[in-house]
Amino acid sequence: MKLVFIGPPGVGKGTYASALSKIYKIPHISTGEIFRDEIKRETKLGKKIRSYVEKGELVPDEIVIETVKKRLSEDDCKNGFILDGYPRTLQQAKALDEFIILDRVLNFVAPDEVIIERISGRRICSQCGAIYHVKFKPPKVPGICDICGGRLIQRKDDTPEVIKRRLDVYKKQFAPIIEYYKEKGLLLEVDARELADKVIPRVVDLLKNYGFYPKE
Ligand code: AMP
Repeated sequence: MKLVFIGPPGVGKGTYASALSKIYKIPHISTGEIFRDEIKRETKLGKKIRSYVEKGELVPDEIVIETVKKRLSEDDCKNGFILDGYPRTLQQAKALDEFIILDRVLNFVAPDEVIIERISGRRICSQCGAIYHVKFKPPKVPGICDICGGRLIQRKDDTPEVIKRRLDVYKKQFAPIIEYYKEKGLLLEVDARELADKVIPRVVDLLKNYGFYPKE
């Protein structure tokens, strides 16, 4: 089962991809994670892409396409994969079609207000990095980490204004990609308004309609 996951920042795409990768026993391939790992290991590729990733800019298409092509040709992708964070441009989408036949593209959608509430309520422990949410996963003592007692902080880019701007950028960037997959008849929309424990079984049910079943 060869899948691409698409969705705005904060929709929970990474969480769904990682859970579904375990259910279907196929790798979750996140280009963002591959790049962060290359940077950390200070590889040749890592050095080349570092400045783009640190500034939050798109890595040039040729580099991303080459990286994904190499990763998808590895043995563990033989029975399928979940691609997360790729494609981000129409050129990347078209390049993928030259070496892979995708089964489906899942587009996770939720209204802006839901995403803004989700991200702006997020709090992170300044000491151990544990993640909380003021409404959905509150700490026992407000502002204090349950695990290490560290102070909880809000990331600078987790404010409603910044999130709204990121959502607008996302919509502009992804409109042609979504249209491209819609025209190919590959796009499936998944309602991601609720929390992950509701969304994941819904995806499993949806994929059954296309002959894809969880691996025992
Ligand atoms: P992410 O974790 O998906 O937000 O990705 C982190 C960073 O990696 C992005 O801000 C980009 O700099 C880079 N990146 C990840 N995937 C891609 C892609 N498909 N095309 C271009 N740059 C990417």
